[in-house]
Amino acid sequence: MDFDAYASYGVALVSSQPDDRHPDDPLTSIEGLRRFLAPYPWMAERARAADVAPLADLRTHLRAVFEAAGDSRSATMVRVLNELLDRHRARPSISGHDDSDWHLHVASTDGPVAEEYAAGAVMGLTMAFLDLGPDRFGTCSATGCRKVFLDTSRNRSRRYCSERCATRANVAAMRSRRRAAP
Ligand SMILES: [Zn+2]
Ligand SMILES: [Zn+2]
Repeated sequence: MDFDAYASYGVALVSSQPDDRHPDDPLTSIEGLRRFLAPYPWMAERARAADVAPLADLRTHLRAVFEAAGDSRSATMVRVLNELLDRHRARPSISGHDDSDWHLHVASTDGPVAEEYAAGAVMGLTMAFLDLGPDRFGTCSATGCRKVFLDTSRNRSRRYCSERCATRANVAAMRSRRRAAP
């Protein structure tokens, strides 16, 4: 696990918020949570109903970090991240499971899944804030989409969470231009 992978915990959590296109909220039931955690089978299999609410709560706080980035409020991002770092303490350890090289784990796998996920997400987004900078935290510009992303494009030009949203927005813009034309 590297910090990019941990940052993707944070992006995935905030992006799980229901919106016009995805009205189902996975974070309302244990079945939903297991679905959400499917990419992380070691957590999905240990997840319990008690993990649902803390992760839904963390999602709200992490969204505030992304939204503050859009308003260029770095001080707010730092305050929220520091509060979360304090609340979700990392428990670092060196690991070398399966065939991987030695690498850092920031949370232990013997506690609640919500804590393991939270410690990883918060540490990952903190490292992204420090390495990439606050203006790389993006919220999708497509109408009705509430997903977020970390912009790693070379010219800091990313506006959409996915190719799909970019295409949809381009088509919508083309249609409205056509309508406006005489
Ligand atoms: Zn690992
Ligand atoms: Zn989108």
